[in-house]
Amino acid sequence: MIVKKIINYTKGEIILAKKQFKSESKRLLDLMIHSIYTHKEIFIRELISNGSDAMDKMYYKALTNDKIAFNKEDFKIKITINQEERILKIRDTGIGMTKEELDKNLGTIAKSGSLNFKEENKAEEGYDIIGQFGVGFYSSFMVADEVTVISKAYGSEEAYCWNSKGTDGYSLNTCEKEDVGTEIILKIKENTDDENYDTYLNPYNLKSLIKKYSDFIRYPIIMDIPVSNLKEGTKDEYEESMEEQTINSMVPIWRKNKNELKDEDYDNFYSEKHYGFDKPIKHAHISVEGAIRYNAILFIPEKAPYDYYTKDYEKGLELYSNGVLIMHRAPELLPDHFSFVKGLVDSEDLSLNISREMLQHDRQLKLISKNIEKQIKKELLNLLKNDRETYVKFYESFGRQLKYGVYADYGVNKEILTDLLLFYSSKEKKLVSLDEYQERMLPEQQYIYYATGESLDKIERLPQTEQLLDKGYEILYLIDDIDEFALKILSNYKEKEFRSVSSKDLGIEDLDKKEELEEEIKKNKDLFAKMKTILADKVFDVRPSKRLKKHPVCFASDGDISIEMEKILSQMPNSQEVKADKVLEVNIDHRVFKALESALKNNEEDFALYTKLLYDQARLIEGLSIDDPVEFADNIWKLMK
Ligand code: ADP
Repeated sequence: MIVKKIINYTKGEIILAKKQFKSESKRLLDLMIHSIYTHKEIFIRELISNGSDAMDKMYYKALTNDKIAFNKEDFKIKITINQEERILKIRDTGIGMTKEELDKNLGTIAKSGSLNFKEENKAEEGYDIIGQFGVGFYSSFMVADEVTVISKAYGSEEAYCWNSKGTDGYSLNTCEKEDVGTEIILKIKENTDDENYDTYLNPYNLKSLIKKYSDFIRYPIIMDIPVSNLKEGTKDEYEESMEEQTINSMVPIWRKNKNELKDEDYDNFYSEKHYGFDKPIKHAHISVEGAIRYNAILFIPEKAPYDYYTKDYEKGLELYSNGVLIMHRAPELLPDHFSFVKGLVDSEDLSLNISREMLQHDRQLKLISKNIEKQIKKELLNLLKNDRETYVKFYESFGRQLKYGVYADYGVNKEILTDLLLFYSSKEKKLVSLDEYQERMLPEQQYIYYATGESLDKIERLPQTEQLLDKGYEILYLIDDIDEFALKILSNYKEKEFRSVSSKDLGIEDLDKKEELEEEIKKNKDLFAKMKTILADKVFDVRPSKRLKKHPVCFASDGDISIEMEKILSQMPNSQEVKADKVLEVNIDHRVFKALESALKNNEEDFALYTKLLYDQARLIEGLSIDDPVEFADNIWKLMK
């Protein structure tokens, strides 16, 4: 500690002993250094975008604080190449970093989740982590074997120099720097047999990379480009042949004319902004003139980010006021059910000084967000109608969120979402929309049937589906926890009610033949009453069934809570022991029923045994555990007389 302090005062010298990277960062760095990633060139995009972010912060500060004098022309990124020394410099006039920030930002990986994610998914070393996360600053180690960062933070007198040659650590010293901002100095690797690193020292190549990845950066990216084709000559002659050029067009993509842009431009913008590691499946570019003017670009991602279905995920769109970024993530712009959407909104009509609290009440913002919701809905419907395959891909990633949206807040948003829903069905075991289901309904069919279970195969074998499938009725197969809850909230679709295959009344004449069933109940009054006494409070009722064919028993549920819902609710924290009203239905045409009848007459013990066994069977079929497995096992061997 003392040693450190002493060194601290010798300005310009090493002030801290060599520091170690945090272990996660070290592993990531190691991946970068030994990367076999084929798009190493993205390092330039990452560094430029960091510089641009830093200038956004400075620019915003200057615009919103009268005391800061500033000159718009000062905001720029300058790139210089020294081929002889293999040095590539990227300099910005952004907000800079303090010593602590250099230490924190460059010594630790910011997105600590990414490595965990990689581990869970066992992605190929190197490749996926870069492609999927765009690891920012560290990507420079893919092309450089030494990286130096010189930075002077706004409001600070001192400048600091961060330097690292790789995984064995970094140093942090004071140094000289006149202006506020940051300079990244890369010592480009030597060529190898497989890799030509010279290309990052070639001005023409670099220029085209910058055009490709960073054309829309709002600040000029300036570079010296040789204008005459000088093959030989002195160093001076070479330098004289150079001309300073602005490489990027600087018009932000959202201000450009849609017709001038290709899909590729939007895709590049999506990765440059780190909106996601995937390729978006759809983008919408909107320009609205009217009561409120704004431009927006919206992206629908293909894959859910690893934290999407956790509470860590933060929704929101970037918010710009007349081209100046005022908020990285404005959650007010997106409803929860479309929280997967990425992108930005730029409006001339918003005040620069708008605060988070004001945003929530801002009328204009509410208008924008309503429009955006409509637009997203339109895009998704379009996709569903015209590009089913892509929609299914989208739905596999985000369908759960849409269904959750139907259910959330007692269904206030169900109208917007219903026609976007898909469920598996018995027809082809593929996802179908509710419209498609209705179109195929048989003329006499009263209800939209559904069955719930863990998997399509398990549902298909449920005894409760036998007769319905026989009649040619399509059944929705619900395998997602949220499905049944969503259908309960919907209650009907275009006037057709949803009905569980386990519900008491299936709305089918010959299956519901009331009189006939009443007759059976009357005839076997004693038998059912006795069964109910044996099972006591385990069942709500015992009665004959008409929905069964080959199977002797199944459960039906009389109330609003189905057995599947009971299972899901019981897994929730603080579950309230919600129980379904289970009705044990017995197939009176099955030979088991004859056995019950004769046991009732001749052997009470057997009758009790059969009853318990049938009850346990019904539980097993539903995927419920058996209350007393030992008794169940005993009951089985008792049968083997
Ligand atoms: P990301 O940019 O995705 O956050 P990086 O590893 O690229 O991840 O950068 C980490 C952090 O370091 C940034 O969030 C920023 O705070 C800081 N930083 C990086 N480059 C610069 C720069 N040129 N100027 C100021 N701050 C920077």
